[in-house]
Amino acid sequence: VTQSEATQLLEGKKSAAAIREEAADTARRLRASGTIPTLALVLATADESAAWYTRAIVRAGEKVGLDVRVERLADDASPGTVRSAVARLSADDTVHGIIVQTPLPPGVDFVEIAQAIVPEKDVDGANPVSLGRLTAGLPAFAPATAAAVLRLLDDHGVELAGRRAVVVGRSLVVGKPVAMLLLARDATVTICHSRTRDLAARTSEADVLVAAIGRLRMLGAEHVGPGAVVMDVGTTPDENGDLLGDVDADAVMGRAGAVTPVPGGVGPVTTALLLHNTVTAAERASG
Ligand code: NAP
Repeated sequence: VTQSEATQLLEGKKSAAAIREEAADTARRLRASGTIPTLALVLATADESAAWYTRAIVRAGEKVGLDVRVERLADDASPGTVRSAVARLSADDTVHGIIVQTPLPPGVDFVEIAQAIVPEKDVDGANPVSLGRLTAGLPAFAPATAAAVLRLLDDHGVELAGRRAVVVGRSLVVGKPVAMLLLARDATVTICHSRTRDLAARTSEADVLVAAIGRLRMLGAEHVGPGAVVMDVGTTPDENGDLLGDVDADAVMGRAGAVTPVPGGVGPVTTALLLHNTVTAAERASG
């Protein structure tokens, strides 16, 4: 066994395809009974990566049988304008899922806006009410990225109950929800952040390490314990514009038990879950 063969690559392609297939089946059934599952995507920026992501969602959505409606607002839209656009979509019976693309115009606060998404349509778990419900063990859509981490772990048979999980990052969209989902699965969870002392000592204790930092290849061999399962959520563009993870995958090869590639790991599962959540929301609304 060579060093790199010892570390399994947790690719997202298969999981994403299975999720899309299930969503497509439900979408077909809904369309046959007169409901067109519809995702509204609010975009108020000319940012290139937001535009790229929007195109990817539109394409993937159409393949699954969803209508994706892009609500393009002005790059300098006011908080009131963005909030009322979201509130209008929340009240629109033909819309089943709503996502708000970042970055938002200067002065427009994401969490403020996300509160205008009704929980039933909050397919990316952006409204803090959704995180609160998850924390309380009540049904809610989890942020798709956080749910994607759990889905990949499950699809690869990684046991969580009683094991040590360390999450680096405490954002509302990734770190906190992923920690809550791991806790709900009986992992013993530690959350690290920029003020954590001796990060490597904390992270190298992990059986399951989740990196949600947004710093190019910040975690190296010293951060990863032998045999650990490493879930890399980070996507940061390098000098060529290629997206790379928080983990230096080359450095942890042969040491980690498994690692998600970037790109091709958590990302594709995230997009697929977003579409699946929208179809689920449409099914609930029509049922
Ligand atoms: P964020 O809001 O910027 O949060 C980053 C977190 O990392 C913060 O909690 C921060 O700590 C922590 N951090 C920063 N520097 C650190 C350091 N030196 N040591 C330890 N912790 C540190 O980012 P985010 O929205 O959670 O996103 C994280 C990454 O995931 C980004 O690369 C983003 O592009 C990516 N992402 C990927 C997907 C996907 O589908 N694959 C989806 C969403 C986001 P403090 O709280 O102390 O500041």
